[in-house]
Amino acid sequence: MMDKVLIFVVIGLVPASMAAVTYNYRPDDKEYGPSVWNTKYNVSCAGKRQSPIHIDTTKTVYKNLGALQFTNDDKVPNGPTLQIGNNKHSYRVNLKKDYFSVKGGGLPGTFNVFSFHFHWGKDDTRGSEHTVNMKKYPAELHFVNWNTKYVNISEALKHEDGIAAIGVILEIGNDENPALASFLKYAVNVTYPKELYNIAQTHSIADLMPKNREAFYRYDGSLTTPVCQEVVTWTVFNNTMPITANQLSLLRSLKDNNATLGVALVDTHRPVQPLNNRMVYRTFDKPPVTAGCCLTPTVCLLIIMLGLFAMFN
Ligand SMILES: [Zn+2]
Repeated sequence: MMDKVLIFVVIGLVPASMAAVTYNYRPDDKEYGPSVWNTKYNVSCAGKRQSPIHIDTTKTVYKNLGALQFTNDDKVPNGPTLQIGNNKHSYRVNLKKDYFSVKGGGLPGTFNVFSFHFHWGKDDTRGSEHTVNMKKYPAELHFVNWNTKYVNISEALKHEDGIAAIGVILEIGNDENPALASFLKYAVNVTYPKELYNIAQTHSIADLMPKNREAFYRYDGSLTTPVCQEVVTWTVFNNTMPITANQLSLLRSLKDNNATLGVALVDTHRPVQPLNNRMVYRTFDKPPVTAGCCLTPTVCLLIIMLGLFAMFN
């Protein structure tokens, strides 16, 4: 039971109390929608380092953070180690406990990969939580990882370096990713919020991520669901992964309650939040080193004068 409660608490980057799970993503809902999360659930939902954000690539700053180093990401654990379910807010997959981990890439520690879940839109024009250069994508996959310096994920959620989230932006494609298919096919078993299903993992989690995992954005943010704890080091890969129209319809077929005519679970994405004075780093497209960028104006002037001197002599 404890595990079950914990799962509801963490997945979807969700609320810290079961009482808070009434939230939804409807912009026009003044009782449970995102516009009242800060008054309804926690003032931190209106904090200064909230997520998701809009990434304006022209304002990102290059930083060499080194490579992310995963453990067991290319392996498939034996037995029915996956727990999948519909938690009324998302479709989530809990991975084998303490089996996968990630460190490096500028992360503040070693993080156990706890779970992943999806955000998606009602149609293909929206759905991702992060947007890049004003572009919205139809879905986004989030891995939730907790810092092993803390005893468990609940404790990690109390500390600003406690959680590392990894975002994979999903883009419509015709080629089906078999790994994504293997994790999504159980959506039909959890149309309505139900108990968790234990199933066997058949594909690696590395196959859910782009091949190039060195190119990513990095910023300090929060959970994207109440109670919006500002404890997340965010990594958003620069490269997208494909999701097919069929796979999106699997997600859109989920319902948000157990009523026979349950409401479709769609548009499960929080609006982008103000960046405030945060920096967004990128680990790719290193700016070219030119003479001008590292020399003082005086030295530059000297070089120009020498150049002119050489031209006229
Ligand atoms: Zn999420």
